[in-house]
Amino acid sequence: MCLPGPAGAPVFHRFGYNSFVQTILAIETSCDETAVAILRYRTGHPGSELLASEVASQIAEHEKYGGVVPEVASRNHLVHAPHLLERATRTAKIDMVEVDAFAATSGPGLASSLMIGASIAKGLSIGFAKPYLAINHLEGHLLSPFFFEDGPPRPSGQTAVPAVDLQPRQARRSESVPWRTRGSSAVTDETSLFPIRPNVSLVVSGGHTMSIFVRGVGDYQIIGHTVDDAAGEAFDKVAKLLGLAYPGGPEIEKRAHDGDPARFDFPRSMLDSDNFSFSGLKTAVRYLLPKLKGDYLADLCASFQQAVVDVLVRKSIAAAKRYGVDLVTVSGGVSRNQELRRQMSDACAREGFAFKSAEPWLCTDNAAMIAFAAMLRLKTGFASRVAEEIDPNLALG
Ligand code: ADP
Ligand code: MG
Repeated sequence: MCLPGPAGAPVFHRFGYNSFVQTILAIETSCDETAVAILRYRTGHPGSELLASEVASQIAEHEKYGGVVPEVASRNHLVHAPHLLERATRTAKIDMVEVDAFAATSGPGLASSLMIGASIAKGLSIGFAKPYLAINHLEGHLLSPFFFEDGPPRPSGQTAVPAVDLQPRQARRSESVPWRTRGSSAVTDETSLFPIRPNVSLVVSGGHTMSIFVRGVGDYQIIGHTVDDAAGEAFDKVAKLLGLAYPGGPEIEKRAHDGDPARFDFPRSMLDSDNFSFSGLKTAVRYLLPKLKGDYLADLCASFQQAVVDVLVRKSIAAAKRYGVDLVTVSGGVSRNQELRRQMSDACAREGFAFKSAEPWLCTDNAAMIAFAAMLRLKTGFASRVAEEIDPNLALG
């Protein structure tokens, strides 16, 4: 038996009773971050532990080219992955033989980067005769707001994703953090220990801007997506126009803090559509710039940021009303933006929706969210075939 999905979506095969699956190792190499995480599920206990989460970023290596170079990214994954695997097992204090299932991001992303993580996870899965899971990167993001459901607050100092770590040895690691989910040990259906409430999910990152109706694990319906630039891409391109560093999102947010969001009236595109468009906004900034004199940077950053936030908030609220959910979630790199979180949270409160955002350290690329998605898939009794191919355009299903 297999789970049906739209054309191009990963296919999951039932592999039988799964209570033996306790420890999942996941690898994420969809773009320019190499990440490894180990998540332990404790059968019969309403909780799991993130035993290790390692991330090595290549931002500086690609900065000099003005964007991610696929060949450079995959070569770096090859260099970083073995070190991260070794560190993750050491941090988790386990031997590879104790891992019960291996997962990797199988798309969407750069083909040559995806291949590295997927090949390693498949090799480990074959070598140790354990299940393999091909996980959609977007599924990792959209489930991440539930990652610490009812869990204890993370100790301070662990909320930041290492943004500029160049070498594995410099990558910050997260400590083992026990977390508990709703429910109690009396619950017999293990999937109910990880309640994924129906929600309208906004995934906003450097490569994606998508609104999704999430009915439950593996049951997703795309509401809308960007027809041109992703929101994060718009932040990055506008930052470049302004001479700011990459990634542009945090740079613009920093300057926007002291700016007037109403000084420049930038376009809010496609408000009547389910889809998104941000290239007109970027072009508006480009045409305005030569006309500006004096001190405008903070106001321009604030006005641009407000235009993006307005669109994201309005469309999410409209979708939540239309799909009859009581919860809105946000995830992905752009959801680290404090103004977006604040205004989305306020709008949800006003309109009577609950709001949940992924923790900041889970917003940019990481393997913990891939391990979490894999665990939820396994707990519903499904795994992938090792023959499952990577797919740079993998659909969500
Ligand atoms: P992807 O996986 O699509 O490459 P990520 O999920 O790693 O993207 O997110 C990276 C993107 O998030 C970049 O475009 C970056 O500019 C954006 N970003 C990160 N922090 C912020 C922020 N505080 N405000 C707005 N955008 C941000
Ligand atoms: Mg991402």
